[in-house]
Amino acid sequence: MTASIATLSGPAFDVERIRADFPILAREVHGKPLIYVDNAATTQKPQVVIDRIDAYYAHENANIHRGVHSLSAEATAAYEAARETVARFVNARAANEIVFTRGTTEAINLVAQSYARPRLGPDDEILITALEHHSNIVPWQMVCQQTGARLVVAPIDDRGEVVVEEYLARLSPRTRLVAIAHLSNALGTINPLEALIAPARAAGAAVLVDGAQAVVHAPVDVQALDCDFYAFSGHKAFGPTGVGALYGRAELLEAMPPWQGGGDMIKVVSFEGSEYNDIPYKFEAGTPNIAGGLGLAAALDYFTALDLAAVMAHEHALLEAATARARAVPGLRIYGEARHKAAVLSFDIDGAHPQDLGTLLDHHGIAIRTGHHCAMPVMQRFGIAGTARVSFALYNTQEEVERIFDALERVRTMLVE
Ligand code: PLP
Repeated sequence: MTASIATLSGPAFDVERIRADFPILAREVHGKPLIYVDNAATTQKPQVVIDRIDAYYAHENANIHRGVHSLSAEATAAYEAARETVARFVNARAANEIVFTRGTTEAINLVAQSYARPRLGPDDEILITALEHHSNIVPWQMVCQQTGARLVVAPIDDRGEVVVEEYLARLSPRTRLVAIAHLSNALGTINPLEALIAPARAAGAAVLVDGAQAVVHAPVDVQALDCDFYAFSGHKAFGPTGVGALYGRAELLEAMPPWQGGGDMIKVVSFEGSEYNDIPYKFEAGTPNIAGGLGLAAALDYFTALDLAAVMAHEHALLEAATARARAVPGLRIYGEARHKAAVLSFDIDGAHPQDLGTLLDHHGIAIRTGHHCAMPVMQRFGIAGTARVSFALYNTQEEVERIFDALERVRTMLVE
């Protein structure tokens, strides 16, 4: 697979043309051309996204769903068109299965408070895996505290893969909800969702997929996955911060109570009681991030116009090259060697603190992430406090890989020898 992928990343994918779409990539840091490889934390934005947000505030700004005037009607139409773009992107059955949120974290909290909390009790369990981000751990711990339910964790092995037999052994009629990452931000593992979702649904559990890392690195089709909920963030998908989406199966969303009250989520309010709005508005109390929603749609339009197979092949070739260089660095250990892995390289180096590596690489213009990556249990699993992490996106280049590892070797010599 690797050979054909590497071939594909040549002519099929013009990385220089892509780079020209991202103005920030032209800047320098500490007098060196920026090499941005902190994409798992947030991605850079193409000009079309910046322009879309700019155009909204310059020409279209109005509150949505409320006004009879033209600007409000235009803004409402644009926002609802953005919802349709998101629905198409994840292949939802209809736009009303898409709830706009602040991001993945808020989407997961919405499901925790609105789906899980009213349904779960002391005999129930929520099953997660040992590679989850804190956003897919803490909301479930909170629900467990609120309901008496138990949080059960399926382990990962030394490669950073979920041990499927152990996961299956933890599924039972008590399992009411399963929450799993599509792609691990700390290790790069791509979970075998087909092997995890079908048994969970057969056991009667609802399934939430944390897609924060996956949406621009793997195909996402919520109908094919047959998940009940899928959460993701705009800013990790070339869109703005402060906006994201929750896909929810319509019949589940219909049955769930709202989790926040306010304007827009109601049809009628009186002091005797209120009648809630239809889905998805029932879950969108208050004025939303309108510009964010439009920017997110522009980002998804930008991304879907590209050839996903070529993007994935390009990123895979970057990972292969980076992994080969990493293996040649004395004292370097890689964390996360899943057989099915995205372009995330987590590592440490004997005698060099990850934070020092990050600080010194910054002086070479190289932006990596260091620390626990909001996945402390993953670090605990490997007996470390943190790693240095290089995470690629479609605009990174083979030349950057070489420059990163040339710099890393110099930095290592400074710190260790
Ligand atoms: N889940 C995963 C796997 C992530 O990597 C992240 C962010 O790094 C999140 C959830 C939380 O995303 P956000 O902070 O955009 O809500």
